[in-house]
Amino acid sequence: MQAKTIKTEGANIPITVDVPYRFAAGSYLAKFLIELRDNGDFYGIKCPACGRVQVPPRVVCAMCHVENTQWIKLKNEGIIKTFTTMYMPLTDPTTGKAHEPPFAYGTVKLDGSDSGIDHMINPGVDPATIKVGMRVKAVLRPKDQRIGDLSDILYFDPIEGEITEGSGNSAPEQKDYGTFEVDQHIVAECRYYVGAIATRFYELLGSKRKLTGVNCKTCKKVFWPPRATCGRCFSALTEEDLVEIGPEGTLETFTKIDYNEPVHPKQGPQVYGIVKLDGADTGMAHLIKVEDYDTLKTGMRMKPLFSDSTNGNILDIMHFEPVAI
Ligand SMILES: [Zn+2]
Ligand SMILES: [Zn+2]
Repeated sequence: MQAKTIKTEGANIPITVDVPYRFAAGSYLAKFLIELRDNGDFYGIKCPACGRVQVPPRVVCAMCHVENTQWIKLKNEGIIKTFTTMYMPLTDPTTGKAHEPPFAYGTVKLDGSDSGIDHMINPGVDPATIKVGMRVKAVLRPKDQRIGDLSDILYFDPIEGEITEGSGNSAPEQKDYGTFEVDQHIVAECRYYVGAIATRFYELLGSKRKLTGVNCKTCKKVFWPPRATCGRCFSALTEEDLVEIGPEGTLETFTKIDYNEPVHPKQGPQVYGIVKLDGADTGMAHLIKVEDYDTLKTGMRMKPLFSDSTNGNILDIMHFEPVAI
């Protein structure tokens, strides 16, 4: 969870959604990635019907729909078939971090192959100087830093020269590479606009350390956190319906979380609970701080601990903790 709020169109909260995942490479891609990692070699696979050499290798020829069988060892040079200039950050699926623009991203046809690898062109090269047909060479991570995915190719670097000799040689059958898995991330930078009522809620929380709920005059319910529509009678609610609640409340339920996820506001283990503030009819989940988890009980009285700084999000309440009796 990020901290700062930009109040140009009402309160909004930047959120980085980072979903780590793992995919099984399969035997062909496993060989490609392991050879690249361990020896810096590029391997393609040749279709027995049409003769196309595909890299990265795939089991079935996309044109003929027959099984590819013959491994071909390629050189680490080729030509740019096509490219685009990136003016927006591009997330590296290995690290989840963005490559800062501008840089060129292209499809490189390695000498001796008939397909292309999509990858970055050296970001230190002015994209305006890059041309289709330009020769490039793969620049790899130092061997002791390679991890076995496509990011082991740092980028392709423009070079002088002609098609390299000895490209596309048949390669002997290799050992069994076994199963191989690759860890990556799907990352989305988001900005959550909280709407007019919640903007006022965060302003009062940030500037006055005042907690508010929204009071539906039709069904006489007070919702916390505030919302624009009554969840019971669907009446429209406005900032005028905000009422001060709390700051103390009652613990309705709780759980302990022993694992960490990127979206968690702090490292675990941690306790989450739903606290119903005095004067509210609903509860909200937040962090609970307690010395001894086993002493927590539903129905316990809780109080908020406010942050020293104003973040413009719900972490202006750092956590709730039991009221000393
Ligand atoms: Zn084919
Ligand atoms: Zn209502």
